[in-house]
Amino acid sequence: MPPDQNITVDVAVIGAGLTGLTCAQHLQQMGYQVVVLEKSRGLGGRVATRRLPNAWADHGLAYFTQQGTQTAALVQLWRDRGILHPWINQDFVWADGILYPGEVSVQRYVSPVGITAIAKALAAELEVWRGQRVAAIAPTDNHTWAFTLEPVAGERVRELTARSVVVTAPAPQAAALLDPLQSQGVPPEFFSAVQSVTYQANLTAIALYPSARQVDLAQVPWRSVQLNHPQLAWVTVDSSKQPHPSQPIVVLHGSTSLSDQFLDAPDLEPAGQLLLDSAANTLLPWLADPEVLQLHRWRYALPRNPLPDACLSTASPLPLVCGGDWCGATATSMQPQITLPLSSPATISPIEQALTSGIASAQAVHRLIKP
Ligand SMILES: Cc1cc2nc3c(=O)[nH]c(=O)nc-3n(C[C@H](O)[C@H](O)[C@H](O)COP(=O)(O)OP(=O)(O)OC[C@H]3O[C@@H](n4cnc5c(N)ncnc54)[C@H](O)[C@@H]3O)c2cc1C
Repeated sequence: MPPDQNITVDVAVIGAGLTGLTCAQHLQQMGYQVVVLEKSRGLGGRVATRRLPNAWADHGLAYFTQQGTQTAALVQLWRDRGILHPWINQDFVWADGILYPGEVSVQRYVSPVGITAIAKALAAELEVWRGQRVAAIAPTDNHTWAFTLEPVAGERVRELTARSVVVTAPAPQAAALLDPLQSQGVPPEFFSAVQSVTYQANLTAIALYPSARQVDLAQVPWRSVQLNHPQLAWVTVDSSKQPHPSQPIVVLHGSTSLSDQFLDAPDLEPAGQLLLDSAANTLLPWLADPEVLQLHRWRYALPRNPLPDACLSTASPLPLVCGGDWCGATATSMQPQITLPLSSPATISPIEQALTSGIASAQAVHRLIKP
């Protein structure tokens, strides 16, 4: 299939997660022509909703909380627009064989149609090319960036050049894209900063149970349980986010050690069974037997060692900015043992970092390309 005609824009933003969409929105508001390039068909990146038969589950970010200036402003806006609704303000805790209510803390907000509603709202006015993986970026002789795009099956073959580029993929994926540019003028300290960031993985299971179990689940007081357990870290009842759930849907997040152990395993089924068995032994016996089980491996779930700056920028060889939840670390977010769930107001909020970094990245592009 021949490519669509090449178009040239002011800015190409790689990644339609919260960083990329926030950045693109701000740049568009400043008057720049922007295209967002996203390798997946869906929007939101780790703000992710999995569609199931007659249902859905949030298998990445489970909810929004007000944990900083940007998240506070957006929660307010999205509540006013009816996109976010209050959910719970308390997790339960399981430790040493005992399940008990944790402290009442921040209000958690969810969407009754799935958390990706947030990404869809952010992208509403943006030009997003979905299903277009950026395989390479390279400077051209006429001072623009050229993109090698690999469309997923069924998507159009397209061509794009841009005066500037913002890379918002998780740092290891950004480093892979930038690697060939080391010999083309990207400063070594820029590249080594991107390369230094590492991520914690998370193995997530989405379990759908028979409708008859809806009555049993309605009896239990918990909707979100943190576990001090060798295999299971966190369980949320995702069906409780929906106004009229017909079937229980439970999302189970593996512990750090289980997630690391199965990071490169060719078959995730044994890990899924371990998660189900752990939930059955700690919370409810019937959790061992779902009707449908889906597994997702988040290779880059949470940044372990985010950089201090809210974004990285350089004019060499051409305007280039990198941002994401791996930028703009606060003192607390430098804690090495970051684990899920992150619901305490005192703990780090990668989401706040992503939003802040998106705005900082837009401002950095503006400084680099303003007339
Ligand atoms: C299970 C889980 C639970 C979490 N819980 C919390 C929480 O409770 N609180 C909190 O604050 N944070 C939490 N997070 C983290 C939070 O979701 C992220 O910090 C945030 O969503 C990051 O947004 P981002 O835009 O920086 O990155 P991403 O969402 O990763 O977006 C990057 C985008 O770039 C795209 N991309 C990558 N490479 C390419 C390429 N070559 N071409 C085109 N597109 C590309 C990806 O497909 C993706 O859509 C959680 C994450 C996970 C996985």
